[in-house]
Amino acid sequence: MRCLVTGGAGFIGSLTAERLLERGDEVIVLDDLSTGHREVVPTGATLIEASVGDQAAVRALLADLAPDACIHFAGLIAAGESMSEPGRYFEANVGESLALLEELIRAGVDQVVFSSSAAVYGEPLGTPMSEDHQTIPTSVYGATKLQVEHALEWMSRQGALRYAALRYFNAAGGSEGHREDHAVETHLIPLALSALAGQRPALQIFGTDYPTPDGTCIRDYIHVEDLAAAHLAALDHLAAGGASLVANLGTGHGYSVREVLSAIETVVGRPVPAEEAPRRPGDPAELVASSARAHEVLGWTPTRSSLGDIIADAWQAFSA
Ligand code: UDP
Repeated sequence: MRCLVTGGAGFIGSLTAERLLERGDEVIVLDDLSTGHREVVPTGATLIEASVGDQAAVRALLADLAPDACIHFAGLIAAGESMSEPGRYFEANVGESLALLEELIRAGVDQVVFSSSAAVYGEPLGTPMSEDHQTIPTSVYGATKLQVEHALEWMSRQGALRYAALRYFNAAGGSEGHREDHAVETHLIPLALSALAGQRPALQIFGTDYPTPDGTCIRDYIHVEDLAAAHLAALDHLAAGGASLVANLGTGHGYSVREVLSAIETVVGRPVPAEEAPRRPGDPAELVASSARAHEVLGWTPTRSSLGDIIADAWQAFSA
């Protein structure tokens, strides 16, 4: 198979591209390198340096290279930032995605795997959350992901394409040459590791009065290797003629901020410098996925997502 991977210079996209190449698929990476890194695009992939919203560039690459399918990772990912820059987020995540989808359909590329997010759900009514949970996003970021899901759903209903929208919970971990490396870092594990390495001030624990056993927020952390495996399974599902699908990617098990910090201390052997801080606006107390559907339809089961493995691999990639 020849696969177009948008955002293939990012954390999850570059690792997925590498795993596709390893199994013998051809990979074209489309990335404007605005937030990605050229050096993580795997050797063997063809890099087209353009934005997904550049319809002329996308049209030319589709005509020249004729991919069979597309995994669309490219987009802006910081929920907090999305609240202060809604226009930029709608343009990058919705406007550019629609431009890309239009070109894909025009060129007859009718299989699309889309990076969606647990942020589409908003405030949880209970956990674990299944895909049938109501979708009332509480961030601009979540709203942009949901709008693209809606566009895909309508395009699929009209027979223009088939898609898999994969709703990631908390992407984490790392792999050789692949670590979370965002210019504006907001994620717990990379911030905690940099604080531990003395590269940042003490980690702020955002909220210690949540209705959870230790008062800190609970999240469902999923290893980037498991996310990559889910994308390969989703591509295979579509290539085999499978129906369009929306699926959560998580483990069904959550860990609190304090549990993450103590797992880091166990793995690294030193405590993370941390201080208690007020709640971060918009953070629900607990977000945990039911991934039964991904298991049933895609045959996907996470194998690298114990908290210990996630932290060990994140630390190894961080320290490399
Ligand atoms: N968190 C924290 N301090 C930080 C960053 C994050 O306490 O410096 C907490 C945050 O409140 C949330 C959890 O860690 O409960 C995971 O946050 P992250 O930003 O990694 O992912 P999110 O769940 O927001 O997508």
